[in-house]
Amino acid sequence: MRILVVEDEEGLAESLRRGLCADGHWVDTAHDGHRGLELARTRSYDAVLLDLMLPGLSGYEICSRIRADGDLTPVLMLTAKDGEYDEAEGLDSGADDYLTKPFSFVVLAARLRALARRAATATASAGGAGTLQAGDLVLDPAGRRCRRGAQDIELTAREIGVLACLMEQPGLAVAKQDILDQVWDTPHAIDPNIVEVYVSSLRKKIDAPFGRRSIRTVHRTGYRMAPDGG
Ligand code: CA
Repeated sequence: MRILVVEDEEGLAESLRRGLCADGHWVDTAHDGHRGLELARTRSYDAVLLDLMLPGLSGYEICSRIRADGDLTPVLMLTAKDGEYDEAEGLDSGADDYLTKPFSFVVLAARLRALARRAATATASAGGAGTLQAGDLVLDPAGRRCRRGAQDIELTAREIGVLACLMEQPGLAVAKQDILDQVWDTPHAIDPNIVEVYVSSLRKKIDAPFGRRSIRTVHRTGYRMAPDGG
């Protein structure tokens, strides 16, 4: 799994990083709230470990903001002592689970695995989606994996959502509004032009590096996926 650890106690952050890496995970660490939010927004993770009390932005704030982006990455909140964590506020902010310090690494690892399993099941049943394919472009929305030929491509949850909309209907024009409705939780509150931003970043990841053009613009409508992958 790719895991983000946001923890301002650097000793703890480092021991978590080492323990998780030893278990075979990829780990990024951040020691303040702003850096944590930046990483959560710009990279794709399977789980986020979020300390509650952080300089800059609190764990609650980070979690609310990534949820407001429509990012459903599982979040495990870490709290300094029993009672510090307000379960109602934590659930409002969109955290999936919490753990009180000090905790054993074994318990943490087990909770992480449980969260990741639940998330994978939820995604699979929500989308009912198997693997999508257009030529050599392959997307597994439930497993959150994408590749072009043998090359793995890292996409954010939102990019995967947008790409899945297009790949589910290869060759057909998909309206920006339809993409918005499927991928965003509060589509009425969002300008459909935001879809352009995600299509542009997708093109930079799945097309440009390979000299391909899979996502075609359909004038005044939206986009369509070239059935052969471009
Ligand atoms: Ca702290």
